[in-house]
Order: sequence, then structure tokens, then C-alpha cells
Amino acid sequence: MFRPLLLSLLGLVALSGCPKDKDKPTDAVAKPRVAVSIFPLHDIAKRVAGDRLDVVLILPPGKSEHGYEPTPKEVARVADSKLVVLAGFSMDEWAEKLVKTASPNVTSLELAPKCQPQAFTQDHVGEAAAAEVAKDDGDEGEEPGAMDPHFWLDPVRMQTAIDVLVTEFTRLDAASAEGFKTRGEEVKKSLAALHADLDASQKKWTKRKVVTFHASMGYFIGRYNLELAAVIEPFPGREPTAKYMAEVLEAVKKTGAAALFSEPQLDRAPARTVADQAKLPLFELDPVGGTPGVESYEKLLRSNAAVLEKALQ
Ligand SMILES: [Zn+2]
Repeated sequence: MFRPLLLSLLGLVALSGCPKDKDKPTDAVAKPRVAVSIFPLHDIAKRVAGDRLDVVLILPPGKSEHGYEPTPKEVARVADSKLVVLAGFSMDEWAEKLVKTASPNVTSLELAPKCQPQAFTQDHVGEAAAAEVAKDDGDEGEEPGAMDPHFWLDPVRMQTAIDVLVTEFTRLDAASAEGFKTRGEEVKKSLAALHADLDASQKKWTKRKVVTFHASMGYFIGRYNLELAAVIEPFPGREPTAKYMAEVLEAVKKTGAAALFSEPQLDRAPARTVADQAKLPLFELDPVGGTPGVESYEKLLRSNAAVLEKALQ
């Protein structure tokens, strides 16, 4: 399904992708274009780039980072990209395919593998889901043992990502190296302050066990001493089976989990069902942000911490 779509999109780019676009001011020197898959990485990349690079966000805010289907308009926006920045581990392959369609010579940069990555654990997914993965090969699940791409939800790992971005941006525009470095250090300082605040907050939380919607919070949970009792949707965007839901409910009861969390990008109905059956409060954690109220990386993490403060006090 995806391949024919991309081929037809490629045709559109060939028709519309004339480099001497008459609508663009001719005196402006073209800045190297960098396409970034998801909002949290885009926000940080844009701030490090300053006005030296044209940093384009691919995933529209409000959409899930898993399995997005780009539109023809989005292909045109990423034409002539020099670099595509991804979380990696196949999570945002859709973004890489999109940019490569529009810019065949683009360089791919996967950040998660360079930021102390870790694997999903059995706890993230559950035995029933692991069995589903075994009989359902080819579908994108977050099976135990696979590497977890959601590194960006840990502000300490994000500081490592900034160093990687500074290096890659300098390759694109060596004359701006000093600026990339200076801005990178500024953003790192802001993330260090963010981490210090979150770490001070988590010390006051009296409850530790959470049930998240999909396996998005592993790095955050590890950094801030939380425990994952279960995840509701092992295949983000695909309704869990009745058998799996029963297993989640069992895990919630057995572990004494304090709260469940839905996510704004995905249908919360399965979370509502489990929360009602377990008689537990349902809150919302946002793994991606970019929507009003969470228009910066720091706001996204602080907003999640405020939710956890309420849920786990
Ligand atoms: Zn995810």
C-alpha cells in the first residue's frame, strides 16, 4: 500500500519540484534543508540550527509517531533536504522513506542509537503481546528485546543528541560551526535545568507504579525512578485484543499500579476500559507534543511531570 503511494508522490515531486521556483525571492541564499521526523527533535534541532538551516517538521502535531502516512503536500515540503533527522530503530521509517522520495541523496541521522539506547523489556509489553508478535510477523510492534526509540523523553539523553546535531549541522555548514556550538550549549543548559527540576519533583512522588498507553515512556521511567506495571497498547494505534486487555488488568491488580495514562495522539478507549475495570484514575501523558500548551521540548516534559505529580503524589 505504501509503495504505490510513494511512487505517485514521486511523480508529483517531479512535476512541482523545480529548483528555480519563481515564487521564492531570488536574493535569499538557500539554506541547507534539514527534515526532522517528530516535534521534540524538531524543536531542539531548530534551536541549535538558529537561522542557518531550514529545519522542517514532518509529523503534524497531534499525530502518532508510529506509522504516519504522509500527504503529497508533505513530500513537496521536504524536497531538496540535505539531512533527515530521525529517532530511529524503525519507529519513524515512514519519515525517512518520505524524505528519500523527495531527496534521493539525503543523509539519514538516527539519534536513538547514539544516545545510550536500551531495549524494550518484557514488562513493557507483556506475555500475551509477545505471543502476538510471534504469530504476527511483519507488523510494527514494540516486542521485548527490540530497541526502544523513545530516547527523547529523557532530557539527559537529549543533551547527547544535541552534541550529535552540532556535529552533523557543522558538516552541512562549516562556516556556522561556532553558532551551532554556542546555541547547542545554551539548549543543553536549559535541558540540564529541566532535568534538575524533574528530578527534584520525582523525589516527592510517593507512588511509583504506572501503566502507560504505549511503550513510549521507558527512558523517562528509568530516569525518574518509576516502575512500569504494563502498557495498554503494545501496537500503537491498534486496538489491543480482549485477551491482552485481561492480562493488563491482571497486571494492574497484581502490581498495585497507581494510575493509568492515555496519550493525546491515540484513541483512549482501551485505557478508559481498563481504568474503569481496575477502578483507577486515568490521566494523560504526551510523548510528542507540538500542540498549543506544549510548544517546546521543555514545556512538553514539564507538562508530563505536572500530570505525574497529580497522579503519584
Ligand atoms: Zn511510540
